[in-house]
Amino acid sequence: MKTIDIIIPCYNEAAVFSKLRERLVELAAANPGFKWEFIFVNDGSRDKTLELIKDFAANDKQAKYINFSRNFGKETAMLAGLDYADGDAAVIIDADLQDPPELIPEMIKIWQTGVDDVYARRKSRAGESSLKKWTSSLYYRLLQTTTRVPIQIDTGDFRLLSRRCVLALREVRESNRNMKAIFSWVGYKKQEILYDRDARAAGTTQQGYGKLINLAIDGLTSFTTAPLRIAAVVGMVVTLVAFIWMIRVVVRALIFGPDTAGYPSLMSAILLLGGVQLLSLGVIGEYIGRIFIETKNRPLYFIEESNIKRANDD
Ligand code: UDP
Ligand code: MG
Repeated sequence: MKTIDIIIPCYNEAAVFSKLRERLVELAAANPGFKWEFIFVNDGSRDKTLELIKDFAANDKQAKYINFSRNFGKETAMLAGLDYADGDAAVIIDADLQDPPELIPEMIKIWQTGVDDVYARRKSRAGESSLKKWTSSLYYRLLQTTTRVPIQIDTGDFRLLSRRCVLALREVRESNRNMKAIFSWVGYKKQEILYDRDARAAGTTQQGYGKLINLAIDGLTSFTTAPLRIAAVVGMVVTLVAFIWMIRVVVRALIFGPDTAGYPSLMSAILLLGGVQLLSLGVIGEYIGRIFIETKNRPLYFIEESNIKRANDD
């Protein structure tokens, strides 16, 4: 019998937990042909999420959990889930039931035809502002134009991964994580499955705009060095224009005598150049920051407690 691991990152999800638990138990009961394991990764929740998970685990041996020592973020929580998922396939799903668990049997069917990464692509997204939808679609398109690795448009983290895909993902251990980019980067056979994304079943979103902007910058800079190249190209163009302008100024001064009325052009040149320099420095700084964090080579997360035993644990 094949084992399917469901990885569920949870951060302050007490409000939806009973519904989630119900839907997962139903899913397992409706598909007895597989061995199911629910791996909850409690990402430093400050509400009753951990207690609810432990209660589930005490009553149902399908429920496993990992409790982080603090909040490490969803990207890291997913990695921890993958580190502990030793089944034949792993599914990553949000705790808030925006991704319907009932789609998983269909994903399994596609996986059984030999696909490594069955990702769920949103046909629609209920309960999300049009600003969020618009910025998200803009971001996917921007990411795609700056990289040669194909990006899956309108796809979140809801997906089923084969064993070899999970093993590949475990090896990618950079600290500036953007799983969406990493899923694409590891490659393997991918196939989409369309679904309607529901609104959150309860509770409020944990991923505010601040977190999403950081994630977007991580995605862009961890995946491509195009911004560095753009800075270099803009720098070259501006230098060329400035050089031609300088020749013009010198020639004019030689022909018509010194020109004291040059203040506006001088000022605009200084401002333009200053702006371009700051922009380029910012871009370079972004990458240096990344190098700094990466060279520290810190462990990605710490576990406070878990009921999962792994072969190399003592
Ligand atoms: N999440 C997490 N750590 C965080 C923030 C979120 O594990 O720091 C989990 C959260 O519990 C949920 C999933 O990530 O299962 C998606 O979060 P959310 O619904 O808040 O984001 P959205 O759907 O609005 O993008
Ligand atoms: Mg959500």
